[in-house]
Order: sequence, then C-alpha cells, then structure tokens
Amino acid sequence: SRVPVVWIVPIVAALVAAIWRAWPRPPRTHTRPLDTGLVGALAAFFIACEWVSTVSAFNAFMAAAGAILLVSLLQESHRLAFHDELTGLPSRRALEERLHGLGPVHAIAMLDVDHFKKFNDTHGHDIGDQVLRLVAARLAQASGGGTAYRYGGEEFCILFPERQLADALPHVETICADIAAYQMAVRRPDRPKDAEAGTRLRQLRSPERILSVTVSIGVAEPEGLRATPAEVVIAADRALYRAKEAGRNRVSR
Ligand code: GH3
Ligand code: MG
Ligand code: MG
Repeated sequence: SRVPVVWIVPIVAALVAAIWRAWPRPPRTHTRPLDTGLVGALAAFFIACEWVSTVSAFNAFMAAAGAILLVSLLQESHRLAFHDELTGLPSRRALEERLHGLGPVHAIAMLDVDHFKKFNDTHGHDIGDQVLRLVAARLAQASGGGTAYRYGGEEFCILFPERQLADALPHVETICADIAAYQMAVRRPDRPKDAEAGTRLRQLRSPERILSVTVSIGVAEPEGLRATPAEVVIAADRALYRAKEAGRNRVSR
C-alpha cells in the first residue's frame, strides 16, 4: 500500500532539510537558494512520478516542484541584487532601498579604507580581499543601531536610522579606533587548501601574517536644505574627503 499524501509532505520537507544540512559547503559561503530549490523541486518531481497513476496527486507534486523552483529563483535574484558576495554585507542596492523608507531623523557614515591601493600592491589582491572581509565583519557589529553596507570597492556605509548625529558619533569614533587597533590575521598565500593540513601547520609554525589598516570616515545628518537621505550621503562623502585631507584614520563631519 502507498504512503498517504499527508505524510509525504513532512517526509519531503525533512528530506530537503537533511540534504541542506548535509550538503558540503566551502567555508564562509552559504548554500544558494537556487541549489536548495533544485533539490526540493527534484524531490517533488520524483514523488510526482511515483504517483503518476493518481492524477490529482501527480498534479499536486508537479505544481509543488514548479512553485519551489519559482520561489528559489526569486530568492536567488534577490540575493544577487541585495547581498555583497565578497563581504557578506548588504549591497549598495540594499542601502538605496533602505534610504527610500528612511524617516527625517538619521545619521549616515561613509567609510573608506586608507591607502588601500598601496596595500593591494604590497600584499596582493587576495590578501586585500581578506582584509575587506575582516573589516566588513567588524562593521557588521557596529553598535548604536548602525547597519553596515558595502558601498563599492573599499568603501562602506553605516546607516543609523532614527539617530541624531550627536548620538551616532561616539559609535562611529569607536569603529574608527577599533579598526586601527585591529590586528588582522590573514592567511598566508602558501597555506594549504585542505583545512586539516592547515590546522596542523598552524600548530607547527608561526601564525598567519598579522596586518592592520586604518579607515577614514565622514558623517552627516539632515540639516537645513540638505533634507533627503541621498543628500545626506553626498554630505557624508564630502566629510569623508575632509577626513582624508586632514590626514586619514579619523572621523570628520
Ligand atoms: P585613499 O586613502 O585616498 O582612499 O587611497 P586608496 O589607495 O584607498 O584610494 P583609491 O580609491 O585610489 O584606491 C582604492 C583601491 O581599492 C583600488 C583597488 O586596488 C582597491 N580595491 C577596490 N575594491 C577592491 C576589492 O574588492 N578587493 C581588493 N583587494 N581591492 C579593492
Ligand atoms: Mg575609495
Ligand atoms: Mg581608499
């Protein structure tokens, strides 16, 4: 006798969840919605085939396969647009969406890594990428209700909704000082790809290379004629330029 349809749904759900959990994934990247969707749709398709003689059940599972695929495609396109692949932070597109719904009180910080071109030239682009990830991970933990976005290249934005600049400023100063003091352990280029061998090697010889960078930050809030969030971003960008001019590794307003 066949398994009743009501049982098949939780069984499929459990199966998909189990495959999701068990799927091998490289460190720091997550399973893409599309991969999970494909597995789910495939499972629904095979169950539909199993029920080919019962028209209603066959149709239901084929429809489920289609729906799973459609939803995962939508999720995947959303992820590609609103999520920065390198750092894991929300992207500039996500920031622009957020700016639209922002109230009249907010503070915006624009942040740029100092002399990063020279840093890349000295240590290599791969190490540069690792440093951007480590800086981004720090920014993601911004206090004071700030949300970090990757604005582009080595530029980031921290948005403080419903905060006045005076309230946000100490948190921005903390971020600037934290990053300057942050001793980043970056992997050596000759580090073995195999994680276990890497762990063994780390125990044997000196740790990974320790590097540090500084950032310059410009902050602004709505004020007088500058009322829209887009205008505040421009003002923060100008303040960032002043921070660079004044010698970098500092916050300007
Ligand atoms: P400044 O202190 O004036 O900001 O100097 P800078 O060298 O950081 O400024 P510039 O804008 O001339 O250079 C930015 C550099 O950032 C250029 C590029 O090498 C590097 N960069 C931008 N995006 C990435 C990235 O995704 N990965 C890596 N590794 N480097 C990047
Ligand atoms: Mg720049
Ligand atoms: Mg820079």
